[in-house]
Amino acid sequence: PVAPASNFLRTIIENDLAAGRYDGKLWAGKPGPASVQQQGSVDPARVRTRFPPEPNGYLHIGHAKSICLNFGLARDYQGACHLRFDDTNPEKEEDEYVHAIIDMVSWLGFDWNYGDEHNEYFASDYFDYMYQFAQALIQAGLAYVDEQSADEMRATRGTLTEKGTDSPWRNRPVAESSTLLEEMRDGKHPDGSMALRAKIDMGSPNINLRDPVLYRIRHVAHHRTGTKWCIYPMYSWAHPVEDALEGITHSICTLEFEDQRPFYDWILNHLADLGQLARPLPHQYEFARLNLSYVVTSKRKLLELVREGHVDGWDDPRLPTLAGLRRRGYTPASIRLFCERLGVSKADSRIDYSVLEQALRDDLDPIADRLVAVLDPLRLTITNYPEGQSEPCEAPRNPHDPAAGTRHFPFSRELWIERDDFREDPPKKYFRLFPGNTVRLKYGYIIKCTGCVKDADGNIVEVQAEYLPDTKSGTPGADAVKVKGNITWVSAAHAISAEVRLYDRLFTEAHPDAGDKNFLEAINPESCRVVQAWLEPGATAAPDTRWQFERLGYFVADRETSTIDRPIINRAATLRDTWAQ
Ligand code: ATP
Ligand code: MG
Ligand code: MG
Repeated sequence: PVAPASNFLRTIIENDLAAGRYDGKLWAGKPGPASVQQQGSVDPARVRTRFPPEPNGYLHIGHAKSICLNFGLARDYQGACHLRFDDTNPEKEEDEYVHAIIDMVSWLGFDWNYGDEHNEYFASDYFDYMYQFAQALIQAGLAYVDEQSADEMRATRGTLTEKGTDSPWRNRPVAESSTLLEEMRDGKHPDGSMALRAKIDMGSPNINLRDPVLYRIRHVAHHRTGTKWCIYPMYSWAHPVEDALEGITHSICTLEFEDQRPFYDWILNHLADLGQLARPLPHQYEFARLNLSYVVTSKRKLLELVREGHVDGWDDPRLPTLAGLRRRGYTPASIRLFCERLGVSKADSRIDYSVLEQALRDDLDPIADRLVAVLDPLRLTITNYPEGQSEPCEAPRNPHDPAAGTRHFPFSRELWIERDDFREDPPKKYFRLFPGNTVRLKYGYIIKCTGCVKDADGNIVEVQAEYLPDTKSGTPGADAVKVKGNITWVSAAHAISAEVRLYDRLFTEAHPDAGDKNFLEAINPESCRVVQAWLEPGATAAPDTRWQFERLGYFVADRETSTIDRPIINRAATLRDTWAQ
């Protein structure tokens, strides 16, 4: 493995470590406020990062960037990375997603357990602390219960150019706000009737500091806390509090949270001043999210594709979900390689889908077994080869890896070749089979095409050729005849039948959801073509087996449906980028 390239986050961490910024940080072995951490000892993890998905959907390739970044930093600086379920928004969260997230982060090769530390956390486990902090803020005159409606709050928030106006409830007595928050918690008020707000500055140029809402009332059951709570914290303050409770040092998020950073610091510094949170406090840093062409990664849009049946579930091999990419044939190493190549920056950019495919090719090329497959079969008869006879041919398992050994398969009179490897009237520079031409059957003999057979409708149903007996690959006569074409084939009597799913990009447009475009209109009608193919005998299509099919690309035996007796195979990527202009 190559050393990871430096980036601005690594520089920040290295400077923090050199300055000893987190040296005395306490860690009680579990998340908690100052009172808990003070019972701990000096934190053995110098750097703490976190990956904080909301369990409201499946992870996608964008999440992989964040996972590789956060777990990678923890690994490289002898720190720890937490897997935290940010489940503060009950409406869309489900246990199914929690399990799928755990599955995919592990699959990518990362582990949040460090010795005795099992860093799997749920934000909902902190609801009691959050309530306690909210009351502390009220007592300090830093929060109040506002009885304006959501619409009124929006209207009085102001705009980019206009200041907001104070709520009539802003200066109500501390005791009143405290009691009302208690009543809100106890279910005495309906949804939307009131909210707890931070008391900061309605005139701030940063709209996020204009008395942001801390708690709203939602009489909705939560996937873990059930009906215990009917008030739920807003993400903008829940998130910094979660980070601080877990002793996170570097809280890395995407650029759209940059404007939230002043509030992140406001809430943490006040709660630390009030003795609620332990110092040193975490800091937020922002990096550019991954935007990949030819896909959509918004969870809402992915959900729409799944729910409306445009794809076949969250793990459909055409989706950019990690479950989909895994099923498509992507390896964890290929996705880590892709993320490493992306680097980390603060500049937004779009990455072409071909970069992802190339990472897969680069990962598989040195390790994947080669195999011959014929996807669009046309019969080839070697008319001068005896019927019923066969002889073995030899080929390397992987030409880059002699230690992988060789594979063997029979040559015989009746073969399958790709339909495209024969033309009755060849175009210029066509070097494959046409009447009168000689080509090499890869790993076999040189043959001379003598003609073809057509059915009543004029369709070509068979190609005929004669082999040149002394020209077998690997024998002294192999180079005696020079040919320009080299085609793949399988012996018809020995080949294994397989269903092959030729997946292609799900969208025909590079930016299917740019602007206000309806991404559903850009769905590629040919994103999955199913063919009956013939595989080289000896292929064992146990689920998740990956190959390079010679001349064709990288393929995987489908992990859900393939069996050795009835192979079902997915195309992961073509051998070359066929979308480049
Ligand atoms: P979506 O916008 O698809 O709904 P999200 O950002 O709401 O995704 P979360 O579950 O909140 O999804 O994300 C968990 C973490 O993954 C966050 O820290 C977020 O910054 C990161 N993340 C999500 N999408 C991307 C992306 N495209 N590139 C990099 N990081 C991402
Ligand atoms: Mg989110
Ligand atoms: Mg989002």
